[in-house]
Amino acid sequence: MTDNERYLQSILDLIDKQPAADSYDKDLITKAFWCCIEAHGEQRRASGEPFFMHPISVAKIVITLGMDSESVAASLLHDVVEDTEYTYDDIKREFGKSVAELVDGVTKLEKIPLESKESVQAENIRKMFIAMSHDLRVIIIKLADRLHNMRTIDAMPEYKQRDKSRETLEVFAPIAHRLGIRAVKEELEDLSIMHLDPVAYHEIEKSLTIKRSQSERFLTMIQERIQERVSEVVPAIRIEGRVKSIHGIYRKMYMQGKSIDEIYDIYAVRIITDTLVNCYNILGVIHDMARPIPGRFKDYISTPKPNLYQSLHTTVIGREGIPYEVQIRTEEMHRTAELGVAAHWKYKDGVIKSDVKFEERLKWIRQILDNQREADDVEELVQTIKTDLAPEEIFAVTPKGDVINLPIGSTVIDFAFAIHSAVGTRMTGAKVDGRIVPITHEVKTGELIEILTSNQVGHGPSRDWLNIAKTTQARQKIRAWFKKERRPENIANGRTEIEREFARNNIRLSEVDMEKFLNDLAVKQRCNSLDDFFAAIGYGGILVSKLMPRVKDAYSRFQKTDKPVELSNNTQTRKMAKSSDGVVVEGIDNCLIKLSRCCSPIPGDDLIGFITRGHGVSIHKRDCSNVPTDITAAAEPERWIPAYWDTSDTTRFDSTITILGLNRDGIVADVSILLGNLHVSVHAIMAKETKDGNCSIIITIGVESREHLDNVITRIKKLNGVFSVERS
Ligand code: MN
Repeated sequence: MTDNERYLQSILDLIDKQPAADSYDKDLITKAFWCCIEAHGEQRRASGEPFFMHPISVAKIVITLGMDSESVAASLLHDVVEDTEYTYDDIKREFGKSVAELVDGVTKLEKIPLESKESVQAENIRKMFIAMSHDLRVIIIKLADRLHNMRTIDAMPEYKQRDKSRETLEVFAPIAHRLGIRAVKEELEDLSIMHLDPVAYHEIEKSLTIKRSQSERFLTMIQERIQERVSEVVPAIRIEGRVKSIHGIYRKMYMQGKSIDEIYDIYAVRIITDTLVNCYNILGVIHDMARPIPGRFKDYISTPKPNLYQSLHTTVIGREGIPYEVQIRTEEMHRTAELGVAAHWKYKDGVIKSDVKFEERLKWIRQILDNQREADDVEELVQTIKTDLAPEEIFAVTPKGDVINLPIGSTVIDFAFAIHSAVGTRMTGAKVDGRIVPITHEVKTGELIEILTSNQVGHGPSRDWLNIAKTTQARQKIRAWFKKERRPENIANGRTEIEREFARNNIRLSEVDMEKFLNDLAVKQRCNSLDDFFAAIGYGGILVSKLMPRVKDAYSRFQKTDKPVELSNNTQTRKMAKSSDGVVVEGIDNCLIKLSRCCSPIPGDDLIGFITRGHGVSIHKRDCSNVPTDITAAAEPERWIPAYWDTSDTTRFDSTITILGLNRDGIVADVSILLGNLHVSVHAIMAKETKDGNCSIIITIGVESREHLDNVITRIKKLNGVFSVERS
């Protein structure tokens, strides 16, 4: 077998793997293959490999998208008219009108020069839409062509890589998205980001690689667990696990300023079943076996996305405390989700059989074209098209040609901070397409934005910007600036504010005592110095209004030396109230009793009750920081009442503990497994890396008593790599 014969065989083998293998016209494809080999002859690509490898690869992509024989033949021939001596008529004679028109359509798209000028690009997009409305297969071949070019873009000069990547991200990926071809959309996006922001791309890639074995283990475990539970209710299911695409992670990190650990749907599990009713049945089982995160359930089955995507989405947290997204759909919905428009490509004897969903998609394209015809201003129209393609995000360009993408509604302030914090903080104004605009200007896709800056010492952002900026990233950076750059001012403001509040609350101490008192407060607020404490108040990191109740408490404690607490213990007229949590309160009957959130008491703790205004009695630990040490000296001593545990009760109690340990692989899993073995129910786990490179795990668990909790803590302390365990 020659090399060429082997290439042909690989195409035919791929066809045999397709569901509709029988319907392919292998003679037509074989003929197109040899024509492609012959026509391109010795031509080479920029990488040095024979040119015909490109159309062969494009044809293979088109096959995996489920396209028909004519599309495959046209893919093999798509560069023949453009780059060789073959003409449209040659193709028409040899392969028929339909294939020739497909080739012609792709050729016309390829001829459009890639220029940064908006009008040229608009024209480009317009032609693409016209081609699509004639025969959608043209655009699918074009997408496959772009995909292969992006896969091999490294052979191109760097400026071309950026241009192509930007165009791919702005035009081709959104088209793939609107046509619902997920696999192509995601790969185009990932490849574009890789060339537009290589540093971020490799950073995300690296952290995903580090996580890989962990991710795979996690996904396998989840899949097995779901399989086991769901198959009791719905036998026919298929489960797939996946990690979010790099571009998807990039967007969340970049646009929402989240770290990789804060992205909820980084893991996704897909459950594919037979019927629509079973989708909802499965959802029920999933919500029963893991805790759903509120607000994350989406029913795209009853309300499909504009690209006709259908699925149920929910995000849940399992025993490991790691959230993951579950997508539930039928086989048919799955096919639509993966292949989009190509899934509805029903061809018979060269005639498109009308398909309702297919018509729906065409309607969208026709609508855009109709709008085009009505307006004369092409440049304005390209904006509409682009906005319509990706309605949830916008792209604008810096004078250097860097593309900045932002959530819709972002202002020039967001744009400036997205370039760099130093650009944002030094910003004095902005020009959009050469014209000065107000600072509240909302950025629109395609705008060229120049940020005007000042190098003057002491220049900085204004506090109003916090209300104008749309992205959290910009707001965080503005706040950080005030925190860092305005320290003397913050300290002075903080000190004034504290003095004013103290005077209002009648807190008076000698200078020495005041110094000591304030220092205690600063330490309690985790500030390293009194200046840090004042500065934190100055920039709004500590709210005095929230601080004052505790200050007043501390003040009364500070003034009086500690005395043993004398609680009225009037046994003769003893009335009692008991809560469902197993707490008994003396002196009151029949009232609402709640365990306070600030210290979450559990059986075994010494208790005290506080009669609230209108909310019954709240139960605190005796040593809770909200409880005055000396009750008799408290503002309203009569409202503090004795309370104790009713030991006959066996209700479970929630308790939160903080574990500090070595940041090693699997430490969270070890803790979870141990808790499982101890039959402790886990309500929430949050693990994060600490600044010194270790890790902290905060867990809320249900325990039976203080003894039980102490036992759990002792066992966790014995785990490999655990430094300390503390009750929060
Ligand atoms: Mn090509």
